[in-house]
Parts: sequence; C-alpha cells; structure tokens
Amino acid sequence: MTARSAEECHLYMELHPCDCGEPVFQWSRCRREQRDDRPFSVYEGHCGACGEARCFEFAVTDEPPPPPAYGGPEPSQIIGPDEFLAVAQALAAIVPADPQRLGSEEREQAMEVIELASAAIDEVLKFAPEPDGEALPARLRSELAQLRRGYTAVRA
Ligand SMILES: [Zn+2]
Repeated sequence: MTARSAEECHLYMELHPCDCGEPVFQWSRCRREQRDDRPFSVYEGHCGACGEARCFEFAVTDEPPPPPAYGGPEPSQIIGPDEFLAVAQALAAIVPADPQRLGSEEREQAMEVIELASAAIDEVLKFAPEPDGEALPARLRSELAQLRRGYTAVRA
C-alpha cells in the first residue's frame, strides 16, 4: 500500500483514531527511510489523551502531486471513496456560506478549506468510472463551485 502524498498520510492518520478514541495524533517524529529501494514515511509519537505509543508507516512515492491534491490520477490505495466523500462533506459544512461577513484572513482559510474539499471530491471520482456517475459528489461539486465563486467575488 502506497500513500501518494504527505496530505494523504495525514488524512489517513486522522481517519484512524487511537484505540482510546482520540482522533488527534500529534506525532513527535517523522522520518524518511529507504527499504529495498522504496521510500517510506514513518510517523511516531504518543497519543495526547492516553499516552499510548503510536506509529504509522507508509510506502510513499518520490513525486507527490502539488497540494492540495491528495494524489495523481490513480485512486487511493489507503483511503476509500466513502471516506473521501465524508471528508469533503465535513469540510464543505464548516465553510460559512456568506464570505462578506468574514475578515480577510478567515476568507483565505475558508478558501483553503474549499480547495481541500474539492480535492477530496476529485478523489471520490477517481473511483467512479464515469466522471458524473455519482449524484452526491456532483451536487457537492456544484455547491463548492458556488462557494468558491462567492469567495472569489469578495476577494476581487
Ligand atoms: Zn489514546
């Protein structure tokens, strides 16, 4: 199993909480290793809630895509389409619909969340044979496009 980007490693860890239920993992060490000529990323640390030692190891690619993309054209090997969809929905839900009321810093942050949600939907679609094969991502996509237009209009 190979992770396609650091973003994908981070999301995978977010999706796999500690046995105690704590979802946040603040790793204290992250290192790269070569094993049989393959690069690996290893994240180590302790759970902030129960203190349990935690460690994630990912085979990684040498050429990750530019952020906020989670990966290239091929679907993820470690995160499923339903997980990406839930992530996109959760991200889209925290973006305020009306950018007018936000400060410029909050607007920038919201814009980043919209880009990340769009990237997550791109990942869902990589599992679907038809680009518009799934109704929900299509609906989320148009919602996100609408949000993005609103934010871009305010920024201009
Ligand atoms: Zn824990």
